[in-house]
Amino acid sequence: MPTNSSDRQTTAAVANVAAAAASAASASTAAVANVAAGPDAAEADLPVSQLVAGRELIQRAGEMLRTAAASRAVLLVLSLNRSDRLLALAQDQASRPVMLEVVRRVRGILRTHDRYAIVSHDEIWLLLADLPTAALAELAARTLQQTLSRPIHVDHGRRPVVQLRPLVGAAWMAQSLHADPMVLLAAAAEACQNARRAEDHVVITRLESDEHAVNRNELEAELRAALQGNDLEVYYQPQIDLKTRRCVAVEALIRWEHPTRGMVSPQLIASMCEERGMIGQLTQFVLNNTLRHQMFWRTQSIDVSAAINITAMSLADATFPGQVQQALATWSADPRRLTLELTESSIVENERLALEFMNELARLGCHLAIDDFGTGYSSFAYLRQFPLNELKIDQMFVRNILKEEGDQRIVHALVDLAHTFEMRALAEGVETLEAADLLEQMGCDIGQGYHFSRPVPAKQFPLWYHQYHKSLVQQPAEAAA
Ligand code: C2E
Ligand code: MG
Ligand code: MG
Repeated sequence: MPTNSSDRQTTAAVANVAAAAASAASASTAAVANVAAGPDAAEADLPVSQLVAGRELIQRAGEMLRTAAASRAVLLVLSLNRSDRLLALAQDQASRPVMLEVVRRVRGILRTHDRYAIVSHDEIWLLLADLPTAALAELAARTLQQTLSRPIHVDHGRRPVVQLRPLVGAAWMAQSLHADPMVLLAAAAEACQNARRAEDHVVITRLESDEHAVNRNELEAELRAALQGNDLEVYYQPQIDLKTRRCVAVEALIRWEHPTRGMVSPQLIASMCEERGMIGQLTQFVLNNTLRHQMFWRTQSIDVSAAINITAMSLADATFPGQVQQALATWSADPRRLTLELTESSIVENERLALEFMNELARLGCHLAIDDFGTGYSSFAYLRQFPLNELKIDQMFVRNILKEEGDQRIVHALVDLAHTFEMRALAEGVETLEAADLLEQMGCDIGQGYHFSRPVPAKQFPLWYHQYHKSLVQQPAEAAA
Protein backbone atom coordinates (compact mmCIF):
# COMPACT_ATOMS: atom_id res chain seq x y z
CA MET A 1 0.00 0.00 0.00
CA PRO A 2 1.07 3.53 -0.57
CA THR A 3 2.85 5.36 2.19
CA ASN A 4 1.49 8.81 2.45
CA SER A 5 -0.16 11.61 4.29
CA SER A 6 -3.57 11.06 2.85
CA ASP A 7 -4.49 7.50 2.03
CA ARG A 8 -7.59 8.49 0.15
CA GLN A 9 -5.69 10.75 -2.15
CA THR A 10 -2.89 8.34 -2.79
CA THR A 11 -5.29 5.48 -3.40
CA ALA A 12 -6.94 7.76 -5.90
CA ALA A 13 -3.60 8.58 -7.41
CA VAL A 14 -2.65 4.93 -7.69
CA ALA A 15 -5.97 3.94 -9.18
CA ASN A 16 -5.83 6.89 -11.46
CA VAL A 17 -2.37 6.38 -12.74
CA ALA A 18 -3.25 4.38 -15.82
CA ALA A 19 -5.64 7.10 -16.88
CA ALA A 20 -3.16 9.77 -16.05
CA ALA A 21 -0.40 7.91 -17.83
CA ALA A 22 -1.84 8.70 -21.22
CA SER A 23 -2.48 12.37 -20.63
CA ALA A 24 0.38 13.12 -18.29
CA ALA A 25 2.78 11.13 -20.42
CA SER A 26 1.81 13.15 -23.46
CA ALA A 27 2.15 16.38 -21.52
CA SER A 28 5.41 15.18 -20.11
CA THR A 29 6.61 14.07 -23.52
CA ALA A 30 6.04 17.60 -24.67
CA ALA A 31 7.92 18.86 -21.67
CA VAL A 32 10.75 16.43 -22.34
CA ALA A 33 10.88 17.60 -25.93
CA ASN A 34 10.98 21.20 -24.77
CA VAL A 35 13.93 20.67 -22.56
CA ALA A 36 15.72 18.09 -24.67
CA ALA A 37 17.93 20.67 -26.28
CA GLY A 38 19.29 21.54 -22.87
CA PRO A 39 17.71 23.32 -19.97
CA ASP A 40 17.25 27.05 -20.12
CA ALA A 41 18.78 27.08 -16.72
CA ALA A 42 22.26 26.61 -18.17
CA GLU A 43 21.93 29.99 -19.86
CA ALA A 44 20.69 31.53 -16.70
CA ASP A 45 23.91 30.81 -14.81
CA LEU A 46 22.27 28.27 -12.58
CA PRO A 47 24.61 25.73 -10.99
CA VAL A 48 24.76 22.92 -13.52
CA SER A 49 26.26 19.89 -11.81
CA GLN A 50 23.61 17.16 -11.52
CA LEU A 51 21.35 19.25 -13.76
CA VAL A 52 20.26 17.23 -16.79
CA ALA A 53 17.74 17.63 -19.60
CA GLY A 54 14.32 16.17 -18.87
CA ARG A 55 14.76 13.49 -21.52
CA GLU A 56 18.02 12.34 -19.98
CA LEU A 57 16.44 12.13 -16.56
CA ILE A 58 13.69 9.89 -17.95
CA GLN A 59 16.29 7.73 -19.72
CA ARG A 60 18.15 7.29 -16.46
CA ALA A 61 14.91 6.41 -14.69
CA GLY A 62 14.27 3.79 -17.40
CA GLU A 63 17.71 2.28 -16.85
CA MET A 64 17.12 2.11 -13.13
CA LEU A 65 13.73 0.45 -13.63
CA ARG A 66 15.41 -2.29 -15.64
CA THR A 67 17.61 -3.24 -12.73
CA ALA A 68 16.67 -5.35 -9.76
CA ALA A 69 16.83 -2.30 -7.50
CA ALA A 70 13.97 -0.59 -9.32
CA SER A 71 12.00 0.11 -6.20
CA ARG A 72 14.91 2.04 -4.82
CA ALA A 73 14.74 4.83 -7.42
CA VAL A 74 12.23 7.53 -6.72
CA LEU A 75 10.96 10.14 -9.13
CA LEU A 76 9.74 13.41 -7.68
CA VAL A 77 7.73 16.04 -9.48
CA LEU A 78 8.02 19.40 -7.78
CA SER A 79 5.60 22.15 -8.66
CA LEU A 80 6.72 25.51 -7.37
CA ASN A 81 3.16 26.76 -7.47
CA ARG A 82 4.52 30.27 -7.68
CA SER A 83 2.44 32.77 -5.86
CA ASP A 84 4.89 35.49 -6.87
CA ARG A 85 2.97 35.52 -10.16
CA LEU A 86 0.04 36.68 -8.14
CA LEU A 87 2.07 39.11 -6.14
CA ALA A 88 3.24 40.44 -9.48
CA LEU A 89 -0.18 42.05 -9.63
CA ALA A 90 1.20 44.69 -7.38
CA GLN A 91 4.92 44.43 -7.82
CA ASP A 92 7.83 43.59 -10.01
CA GLN A 93 8.58 39.89 -10.51
CA ALA A 94 11.88 38.75 -9.14
CA SER A 95 11.96 35.62 -11.20
CA ARG A 96 15.62 34.83 -11.78
CA PRO A 97 16.97 35.29 -8.27
CA VAL A 98 14.03 33.25 -7.00
CA MET A 99 14.89 30.41 -9.35
CA LEU A 100 18.55 30.54 -8.30
CA GLU A 101 17.54 30.20 -4.69
CA VAL A 102 15.14 27.36 -5.52
CA VAL A 103 17.91 25.47 -7.29
CA ARG A 104 20.28 26.08 -4.38
CA ARG A 105 17.77 24.55 -2.00
CA VAL A 106 16.95 21.63 -4.34
CA ARG A 107 20.64 20.82 -4.65
CA GLY A 108 20.89 20.85 -0.90
CA ILE A 109 18.95 17.61 -0.67
CA LEU A 110 20.65 15.79 -3.57
CA ARG A 111 23.32 13.11 -3.22
CA THR A 112 26.05 12.41 -5.79
CA HIS A 113 24.05 10.09 -8.04
CA ASP A 114 20.81 12.02 -7.91
CA ARG A 115 19.77 14.20 -10.85
CA TYR A 116 17.31 16.98 -11.46
CA ALA A 117 15.77 18.63 -14.51
CA ILE A 118 14.17 22.04 -14.75
CA VAL A 119 11.28 21.47 -17.13
CA SER A 120 9.61 24.84 -16.85
CA HIS A 121 9.76 27.96 -14.72
CA ASP A 122 7.35 26.20 -12.41
CA GLU A 123 8.31 22.54 -12.47
CA ILE A 124 11.37 20.52 -11.53
CA TRP A 125 11.81 16.76 -11.73
CA LEU A 126 14.18 14.93 -9.41
CA LEU A 127 15.48 11.41 -9.70
CA LEU A 128 16.76 10.01 -6.45
CA ALA A 129 18.87 6.92 -6.95
CA ASP A 130 19.32 3.96 -4.63
CA LEU A 131 17.28 4.93 -1.63
CA PRO A 132 17.65 2.07 0.85
CA THR A 133 14.20 2.45 2.45
CA ALA A 134 10.76 3.84 1.64
CA ALA A 135 10.95 6.01 4.72
CA LEU A 136 13.91 7.84 3.21
CA ALA A 137 11.95 8.60 0.05
CA GLU A 138 9.19 10.05 2.16
CA LEU A 139 11.68 12.05 4.16
CA ALA A 140 13.24 13.43 0.97
CA ALA A 141 9.85 14.50 -0.40
CA ARG A 142 8.88 16.23 2.82
CA THR A 143 12.26 17.87 3.26
CA LEU A 144 12.06 19.22 -0.27
CA GLN A 145 8.57 20.60 0.36
CA GLN A 146 9.58 22.18 3.64
CA THR A 147 12.84 23.70 2.49
CA LEU A 148 11.10 25.37 -0.44
CA SER A 149 8.25 26.61 1.74
CA ARG A 150 10.61 28.90 3.63
CA PRO A 151 10.33 32.51 2.46
CA ILE A 152 12.80 33.59 -0.20
CA HIS A 153 14.48 36.96 0.26
CA VAL A 154 15.82 38.40 -2.94
CA ASP A 155 17.72 41.53 -3.80
CA HIS A 156 19.17 41.84 -0.29
CA GLY A 157 15.78 42.30 1.21
CA ARG A 158 14.96 45.31 -0.98
CA ARG A 159 12.14 43.44 -2.68
CA PRO A 160 9.20 41.84 -0.88
CA VAL A 161 9.66 38.29 0.27
CA VAL A 162 8.54 35.58 -2.13
CA GLN A 163 6.61 32.74 -0.59
CA LEU A 164 6.28 29.59 -2.68
CA ARG A 165 3.69 26.93 -1.97
CA PRO A 166 5.54 23.94 -3.37
CA LEU A 167 3.71 20.73 -4.14
CA VAL A 168 5.60 17.46 -4.24
CA GLY A 169 4.44 14.24 -5.86
CA ALA A 170 6.67 11.20 -5.60
CA ALA A 171 6.42 7.82 -7.24
CA TRP A 172 8.34 4.63 -7.22
CA MET A 173 7.66 1.24 -8.59
CA ALA A 174 7.88 -2.11 -6.84
CA GLN A 175 9.19 -5.08 -8.88
CA SER A 176 9.00 -3.53 -12.29
CA LEU A 177 11.53 -5.13 -14.49
CA HIS A 178 10.09 -3.83 -17.74
CA ALA A 179 8.20 -0.81 -16.61
CA ASP A 180 7.97 2.30 -18.71
CA PRO A 181 9.58 5.29 -16.99
CA MET A 182 6.78 7.42 -18.45
CA VAL A 183 4.30 5.54 -16.27
CA LEU A 184 6.42 6.47 -13.28
CA LEU A 185 6.56 10.07 -14.39
CA ALA A 186 2.80 10.12 -14.95
CA ALA A 187 2.27 8.71 -11.46
CA ALA A 188 4.53 11.34 -9.92
CA ALA A 189 2.76 14.08 -11.91
CA GLU A 190 -0.61 12.79 -10.78
CA ALA A 191 0.60 12.61 -7.17
CA CYS A 192 1.81 16.19 -7.51
CA GLN A 193 -1.65 17.29 -8.67
CA ASN A 194 -3.24 15.52 -5.74
CA ALA A 195 -0.73 17.14 -3.40
CA ARG A 196 -2.59 20.42 -3.84
CA ARG A 197 -5.38 19.05 -1.69
CA ALA A 198 -3.19 17.16 0.78
CA GLU A 199 -2.74 18.97 4.05
CA ASP A 200 1.07 18.94 3.91
CA HIS A 201 1.21 19.30 0.10
CA VAL A 202 3.09 16.03 -0.35
CA VAL A 203 1.71 12.83 -1.90
CA ILE A 204 3.75 9.68 -2.33
CA THR A 205 2.68 6.83 -4.56
CA ARG A 206 4.06 3.34 -4.80
CA LEU A 207 3.08 1.47 -7.93
CA GLU A 208 2.64 -2.25 -7.62
CA SER A 209 3.74 -3.05 -11.20
CA ASP A 210 0.61 -3.99 -13.17
CA GLU A 211 -1.70 -4.08 -10.23
CA HIS A 212 -2.67 -0.45 -10.55
CA ALA A 213 -3.89 -0.94 -14.12
CA VAL A 214 -6.05 -3.93 -13.18
CA ASN A 215 -7.40 -2.08 -10.18
CA ARG A 216 -8.32 0.86 -12.31
CA ASN A 217 -10.14 -1.18 -14.95
CA GLU A 218 -12.24 -2.79 -12.27
CA LEU A 219 -13.09 0.55 -10.73
CA GLU A 220 -13.99 1.97 -14.11
CA ALA A 221 -16.45 -0.88 -14.84
CA GLU A 222 -18.00 -0.38 -11.41
CA LEU A 223 -18.30 3.37 -11.92
CA ARG A 224 -20.01 2.83 -15.28
CA ALA A 225 -22.49 0.48 -13.63
CA ALA A 226 -23.04 2.89 -10.73
CA LEU A 227 -23.75 5.76 -13.14
CA GLN A 228 -26.20 3.64 -15.10
CA GLY A 229 -27.82 2.36 -11.93
CA ASN A 230 -28.14 5.86 -10.42
CA ASP A 231 -26.03 4.72 -7.48
CA LEU A 232 -24.10 7.97 -7.19
CA GLU A 233 -25.31 10.79 -5.01
CA VAL A 234 -25.01 14.57 -5.09
CA TYR A 235 -24.09 16.43 -1.90
CA TYR A 236 -24.46 20.17 -1.48
CA GLN A 237 -22.16 22.62 0.24
CA PRO A 238 -23.69 25.94 1.35
CA GLN A 239 -22.33 29.26 0.10
CA ILE A 240 -22.83 32.18 2.46
CA ASP A 241 -23.26 35.88 1.77
CA LEU A 242 -20.57 37.25 4.07
CA LYS A 243 -22.41 40.53 4.80
CA THR A 244 -25.78 39.11 5.74
CA ARG A 245 -24.40 35.64 6.65
CA ARG A 246 -27.37 34.10 4.89
CA CYS A 247 -27.05 31.01 2.72
CA VAL A 248 -27.59 32.15 -0.86
CA ALA A 249 -26.36 29.21 -2.88
CA VAL A 250 -24.97 25.68 -2.81
CA GLU A 251 -22.28 23.85 -4.77
CA ALA A 252 -23.20 20.38 -6.02
CA LEU A 253 -20.46 17.82 -5.36
CA ILE A 254 -20.56 14.22 -6.53
CA ARG A 255 -20.32 11.40 -4.01
CA TRP A 256 -19.95 7.67 -4.55
CA GLU A 257 -19.92 5.27 -1.67
CA HIS A 258 -18.33 2.15 -3.08
CA PRO A 259 -19.52 -1.05 -1.38
CA THR A 260 -15.98 -2.15 -0.45
CA ARG A 261 -13.66 0.79 -1.12
CA GLY A 262 -15.69 3.35 0.82
CA MET A 263 -16.03 6.92 -0.45
CA VAL A 264 -14.27 7.32 -3.80
CA SER A 265 -12.53 10.64 -4.37
CA PRO A 266 -14.72 13.01 -6.44
CA GLN A 267 -11.68 14.08 -8.41
CA LEU A 268 -10.98 10.49 -9.33
CA ILE A 269 -14.60 10.05 -10.42
CA ALA A 270 -14.45 13.18 -12.58
CA SER A 271 -11.09 12.36 -14.18
CA MET A 272 -12.06 8.74 -14.82
CA CYS A 273 -15.32 9.87 -16.43
CA GLU A 274 -13.38 12.33 -18.56
CA GLU A 275 -10.84 9.73 -19.69
CA ARG A 276 -13.36 7.05 -20.51
CA GLY A 277 -16.11 9.02 -22.23
CA MET A 278 -18.53 9.12 -19.30
CA ILE A 279 -18.26 12.79 -18.40
CA GLY A 280 -21.41 13.78 -20.31
CA GLN A 281 -23.34 11.20 -18.31
CA LEU A 282 -21.86 12.39 -15.01
CA THR A 283 -22.62 16.04 -15.70
CA GLN A 284 -26.18 15.19 -16.78
CA PHE A 285 -26.66 13.21 -13.60
CA VAL A 286 -25.44 16.07 -11.41
CA LEU A 287 -27.34 18.71 -13.39
CA ASN A 288 -30.66 16.92 -13.31
CA ASN A 289 -30.38 15.93 -9.67
CA THR A 290 -29.40 19.45 -8.68
CA LEU A 291 -32.34 21.03 -10.50
CA ARG A 292 -34.67 18.39 -9.08
CA HIS A 293 -33.44 19.03 -5.55
CA GLN A 294 -33.67 22.78 -6.05
CA MET A 295 -37.32 22.30 -7.05
CA PHE A 296 -37.94 20.21 -3.93
CA TRP A 297 -36.26 22.81 -1.69
CA ARG A 298 -38.50 25.53 -3.11
CA THR A 299 -41.42 23.59 -1.68
CA GLN A 300 -39.66 23.96 1.70
CA SER A 301 -39.38 27.76 1.28
CA ILE A 302 -35.73 27.53 0.32
CA ASP A 303 -34.72 29.53 -2.69
CA VAL A 304 -30.99 29.12 -3.34
CA SER A 305 -28.84 29.16 -6.44
CA ALA A 306 -26.91 26.02 -7.27
CA ALA A 307 -23.51 25.58 -8.88
CA ILE A 308 -22.28 22.52 -10.74
CA ASN A 309 -18.74 21.66 -11.84
CA ILE A 310 -17.97 21.37 -15.53
CA THR A 311 -14.76 19.76 -16.81
CA ALA A 312 -12.66 20.84 -19.77
CA MET A 313 -14.04 18.10 -21.97
CA SER A 314 -17.61 19.42 -21.83
CA LEU A 315 -16.35 22.63 -23.42
CA ALA A 316 -15.92 20.70 -26.65
CA ASP A 317 -19.39 19.16 -26.49
CA ALA A 318 -21.54 21.23 -28.83
CA THR A 319 -24.70 19.58 -27.51
CA PHE A 320 -24.06 20.68 -23.93
CA PRO A 321 -25.84 24.08 -23.95
CA GLY A 322 -28.91 22.39 -25.50
CA GLN A 323 -28.87 19.78 -22.75
CA VAL A 324 -28.75 22.50 -20.11
CA GLN A 325 -31.68 24.29 -21.75
CA GLN A 326 -33.64 21.03 -21.83
CA ALA A 327 -32.92 20.27 -18.17
CA LEU A 328 -33.93 23.79 -17.12
CA ALA A 329 -37.25 23.33 -18.95
CA THR A 330 -37.82 19.86 -17.46
CA TRP A 331 -37.46 21.14 -13.89
CA SER A 332 -39.03 24.56 -14.52
CA ALA A 333 -35.82 26.06 -13.21
CA ASP A 334 -34.70 29.67 -13.38
CA PRO A 335 -31.43 29.81 -15.39
CA ARG A 336 -30.20 32.69 -13.20
CA ARG A 337 -30.27 30.26 -10.28
CA LEU A 338 -27.83 27.90 -12.02
CA THR A 339 -24.06 28.55 -12.01
CA LEU A 340 -21.63 26.53 -14.06
CA GLU A 341 -18.12 26.34 -12.59
CA LEU A 342 -15.15 25.96 -14.90
CA THR A 343 -11.64 25.66 -13.54
CA GLU A 344 -9.09 28.26 -14.46
CA SER A 345 -6.90 25.63 -16.15
CA SER A 346 -9.71 24.27 -18.35
CA ILE A 347 -10.42 27.80 -19.58
CA VAL A 348 -6.77 28.57 -20.22
CA GLU A 349 -6.20 25.32 -22.11
CA ASN A 350 -9.22 25.75 -24.35
CA GLU A 351 -9.54 29.48 -24.68
CA ARG A 352 -11.55 29.67 -27.92
CA LEU A 353 -13.89 26.79 -27.05
CA ALA A 354 -14.36 28.19 -23.55
CA LEU A 355 -15.38 31.56 -24.91
CA GLU A 356 -18.00 30.12 -27.30
CA PHE A 357 -19.26 27.76 -24.62
CA MET A 358 -19.62 30.49 -22.03
CA ASN A 359 -21.28 32.92 -24.41
CA GLU A 360 -23.93 30.34 -25.26
CA LEU A 361 -24.65 29.54 -21.62
CA ALA A 362 -24.70 33.22 -20.72
CA ARG A 363 -27.28 33.73 -23.49
CA LEU A 364 -29.46 31.12 -21.79
CA GLY A 365 -29.23 33.25 -18.64
CA CYS A 366 -27.00 30.88 -16.64
CA HIS A 367 -24.23 32.25 -14.43
CA LEU A 368 -20.59 31.30 -14.88
CA ALA A 369 -17.86 30.96 -12.28
CA ILE A 370 -14.11 30.46 -12.57
CA ASP A 371 -13.15 27.76 -10.04
CA ASP A 372 -9.85 27.23 -8.17
CA PHE A 373 -8.66 30.67 -9.22
CA GLY A 374 -5.01 31.45 -8.56
CA THR A 375 -3.74 27.96 -9.33
CA GLY A 376 -3.43 28.36 -13.10
CA TYR A 377 -1.49 30.57 -15.40
CA SER A 378 -4.03 33.04 -16.68
CA SER A 379 -3.11 36.63 -17.17
CA PHE A 380 -5.54 38.84 -15.40
CA ALA A 381 -6.42 41.12 -18.28
CA TYR A 382 -7.54 38.12 -20.24
CA LEU A 383 -10.39 37.45 -17.85
CA ARG A 384 -12.16 40.45 -19.31
CA GLN A 385 -13.21 38.63 -22.48
CA PHE A 386 -15.21 35.95 -20.65
CA PRO A 387 -18.77 36.54 -19.45
CA LEU A 388 -17.91 35.46 -15.90
CA ASN A 389 -20.08 36.28 -12.91
CA GLU A 390 -18.01 34.85 -10.10
CA LEU A 391 -14.37 34.30 -9.22
CA LYS A 392 -13.76 31.47 -6.75
CA ILE A 393 -10.50 32.02 -4.89
CA ASP A 394 -8.75 28.70 -4.37
CA GLN A 395 -8.78 27.37 -0.83
CA MET A 396 -5.00 27.12 -0.85
CA PHE A 397 -4.83 30.91 -0.33
CA VAL A 398 -7.73 31.05 2.10
CA ARG A 399 -6.79 28.23 4.46
CA ASN A 400 -4.00 30.12 6.23
CA ILE A 401 -5.31 33.61 5.74
CA LEU A 402 -5.17 34.42 9.44
CA LYS A 403 -1.55 33.39 9.82
CA GLU A 404 0.04 34.32 6.52
CA GLU A 405 0.33 37.93 5.57
CA GLY A 406 1.26 37.00 1.99
CA ASP A 407 -1.97 35.03 1.63
CA GLN A 408 -3.95 37.95 2.97
CA ARG A 409 -2.43 40.20 0.33
CA ILE A 410 -3.17 37.71 -2.43
CA VAL A 411 -6.76 37.19 -1.36
CA HIS A 412 -7.28 40.93 -1.05
CA ALA A 413 -5.83 41.48 -4.53
CA LEU A 414 -8.06 38.74 -5.97
CA VAL A 415 -11.17 40.20 -4.33
CA ASP A 416 -10.34 43.57 -5.89
CA LEU A 417 -9.59 41.90 -9.21
CA ALA A 418 -13.01 40.21 -9.20
CA HIS A 419 -14.71 43.51 -8.49
CA THR A 420 -12.72 45.30 -11.18
CA PHE A 421 -14.17 42.86 -13.68
CA GLU A 422 -17.62 43.13 -12.11
CA MET A 423 -17.57 39.64 -10.69
CA ARG A 424 -18.56 38.39 -7.27
CA ALA A 425 -15.63 37.18 -5.19
CA LEU A 426 -16.12 33.83 -3.45
CA ALA A 427 -13.58 32.40 -1.03
CA GLU A 428 -13.33 28.61 -0.85
CA GLY A 429 -12.03 26.78 2.22
CA VAL A 430 -13.37 29.10 4.94
CA GLU A 431 -12.69 27.04 8.03
CA THR A 432 -13.12 29.49 10.93
CA LEU A 433 -15.31 32.38 11.98
CA GLU A 434 -12.25 34.63 12.17
CA ALA A 435 -11.41 33.85 8.54
CA ALA A 436 -15.00 34.62 7.52
CA ASP A 437 -14.85 37.95 9.36
CA LEU A 438 -11.53 38.90 7.80
CA LEU A 439 -12.81 38.01 4.33
CA GLU A 440 -15.87 40.12 4.92
CA GLN A 441 -13.64 43.07 5.89
CA MET A 442 -11.72 42.59 2.66
CA GLY A 443 -14.95 42.97 0.74
CA CYS A 444 -15.21 39.31 -0.28
CA ASP A 445 -18.84 38.66 -1.17
CA ILE A 446 -19.35 34.96 -0.50
CA GLY A 447 -17.72 32.30 1.66
CA GLN A 448 -17.80 28.52 1.35
CA GLY A 449 -16.14 26.12 3.72
CA TYR A 450 -16.24 23.77 6.65
CA HIS A 451 -16.86 26.65 9.09
CA PHE A 452 -20.35 27.05 7.66
CA SER A 453 -20.95 23.45 6.65
CA ARG A 454 -19.41 20.44 5.01
CA PRO A 455 -21.21 19.18 1.90
CA VAL A 456 -24.50 17.53 2.99
CA PRO A 457 -26.91 15.11 1.28
CA ALA A 458 -29.89 16.74 -0.47
CA LYS A 459 -32.36 15.43 2.10
CA GLN A 460 -30.44 16.91 5.02
CA PHE A 461 -30.03 20.31 3.43
CA PRO A 462 -33.44 21.78 4.44
CA LEU A 463 -32.82 20.88 8.08
CA TRP A 464 -29.35 22.45 7.98
CA TYR A 465 -30.71 25.53 6.21
CA HIS A 466 -33.51 26.22 8.68
CA GLN A 467 -31.38 25.53 11.76
CA TYR A 468 -28.57 27.70 10.44
CA HIS A 469 -30.84 30.68 9.83
CA LYS A 470 -32.50 30.19 13.20
CA SER A 471 -29.08 30.37 14.87
CA LEU A 472 -28.37 33.61 12.97
CA VAL A 473 -31.42 35.23 14.51
CA GLN A 474 -30.55 33.93 17.97
CA GLN A 475 -26.91 35.03 17.96
CA PRO A 476 -27.42 38.82 18.14
CA ALA A 477 -29.98 38.30 20.95
CA GLU A 478 -27.50 36.13 22.86
CA ALA A 479 -24.76 38.69 22.37
CA ALA A 480 -27.01 41.45 23.77
CA ALA A 481 -27.86 39.31 26.81
P1 C2E B 1 -14.08 22.08 -6.16
O1 C2E B 1 -15.09 22.27 -7.23
O2 C2E B 1 -13.08 23.16 -5.97
O3 C2E B 1 -14.88 21.81 -4.81
C1 C2E B 1 -14.51 22.25 -3.55
C2 C2E B 1 -13.87 21.14 -2.78
O4 C2E B 1 -13.36 21.67 -1.56
C3 C2E B 1 -14.85 20.04 -2.36
O5 C2E B 1 -14.11 18.83 -2.34
C4 C2E B 1 -15.21 20.45 -0.95
O6 C2E B 1 -15.68 19.38 -0.16
C5 C2E B 1 -13.88 20.97 -0.46
N1 C2E B 1 -14.02 21.93 0.63
C6 C2E B 1 -15.02 22.80 0.84
N2 C2E B 1 -14.82 23.54 1.94
C7 C2E B 1 -13.65 23.16 2.46
C8 C2E B 1 -12.89 23.57 3.60
O7 C2E B 1 -13.26 24.46 4.38
N3 C2E B 1 -11.72 22.94 3.82
C9 C2E B 1 -11.28 21.97 2.98
N4 C2E B 1 -10.11 21.40 3.27
N5 C2E B 1 -11.95 21.56 1.89
C10 C2E B 1 -13.13 22.14 1.62
P2 C2E B 1 -14.65 17.50 -3.00
O8 C2E B 1 -16.13 17.36 -2.81
O9 C2E B 1 -13.75 16.41 -2.53
O10 C2E B 1 -14.42 17.76 -4.54
C11 C2E B 1 -13.13 17.90 -5.05
C12 C2E B 1 -13.16 18.32 -6.49
O11 C2E B 1 -13.73 17.30 -7.31
C13 C2E B 1 -14.00 19.56 -6.76
O12 C2E B 1 -13.27 20.71 -6.41
C14 C2E B 1 -14.25 19.41 -8.24
O13 C2E B 1 -13.13 19.84 -8.97
C15 C2E B 1 -14.37 17.90 -8.40
N6 C2E B 1 -15.79 17.54 -8.42
C16 C2E B 1 -16.61 17.31 -7.37
N7 C2E B 1 -17.86 17.02 -7.79
C17 C2E B 1 -17.83 17.09 -9.14
C18 C2E B 1 -18.81 16.89 -10.18
O14 C2E B 1 -19.99 16.65 -9.94
N8 C2E B 1 -18.39 17.04 -11.47
C19 C2E B 1 -17.09 17.37 -11.77
N9 C2E B 1 -16.78 17.50 -13.06
N10 C2E B 1 -16.14 17.55 -10.83
C20 C2E B 1 -16.51 17.42 -9.54
MG1 MG C 1 -16.16 23.76 -7.83
MG1 MG D 1 -12.68 24.93 -6.17
